[in-house]
Amino acid sequence: MSEYRSIPSEKLPRIIYIMGSGRSGTTILEVLLSNSPGVAGVGEVTHIFRDGYINGDVCACGSDVSECELWSTVRRQCDWSDADISSGEKLFRRFSWHSKFPGVAMGLAPANAKKEFADLNGKLFSAVAKHSGAHTIIDSSKYAARAIALMRSFPDDVMIICLTRSPSGLMQAFSKPNKNEQKPKSTLATFIYYIYVMACFRVVSWRYGRRVLKIRYEDVVSDPCTALDRIERWSGVDLSATRETISSDGFLEPGHIVTGNRLRYQKKIRFRRSGEDRAALRMPTRIVVMIMNAYRFILQL
Ligand SMILES: [Zn+2]
Repeated sequence: MSEYRSIPSEKLPRIIYIMGSGRSGTTILEVLLSNSPGVAGVGEVTHIFRDGYINGDVCACGSDVSECELWSTVRRQCDWSDADISSGEKLFRRFSWHSKFPGVAMGLAPANAKKEFADLNGKLFSAVAKHSGAHTIIDSSKYAARAIALMRSFPDDVMIICLTRSPSGLMQAFSKPNKNEQKPKSTLATFIYYIYVMACFRVVSWRYGRRVLKIRYEDVVSDPCTALDRIERWSGVDLSATRETISSDGFLEPGHIVTGNRLRYQKKIRFRRSGEDRAALRMPTRIVVMIMNAYRFILQL
């Protein structure tokens, strides 16, 4: 029995949690997975209280969250007052963000906070499953801290995909200005960020073994069907519908993502395969990337 748990696991859908760094393709992987029957994506749901219910961001479906058919129904079903929304935002923040990882990994949060975290997520996931009819929910909140907290809350129901991206691709992605998304990072900031988050991901994959599947962004964008096949065999979730959509050059839909990459604003998404990240990086950055590549190799991520 988990110290976090307070809701019987049979009430919950299966939760596939996508753990990854910023700009590593977590949103596109979520869209791929959630375009098969019985699978629902909830985006970076750790931010749903802040971005959705407090700031009133627009959902990928085109409606404000207060009018979105999914998120307005979830709020009604969970009977959340404004005070509940505010405390939910604080609670989720406590178990997310990269800086929270050491404390969460060491189990330092008070017992009542762990129980509240499990209760709140249990209610949220159950409400999404009830409304959508999904047996599997994709949560692409990315943070390693939340991965551990969810795994401790619902050990029988959570599976984790660890999505990593090549250092050169990440360096290039973080150098670009990106309005309304994560801010650009310098070479040094990207290096420190990478060393830290990859160490967190290694701890999670070491701790949870076969319940963690390591996937590389480069493999997803170059050969999505093979990547989906691996995820299907590992998770047992039928993803054949998405593979057929990609093979026939059809359109994917973003569902009800509130926080995630800006591609969520496209009503119809056509998946474009692409090759290796070929970044034209300057010399000091190239040396840093070589060190990051060695680090990735040592960590086996
Ligand atoms: Zn929506």
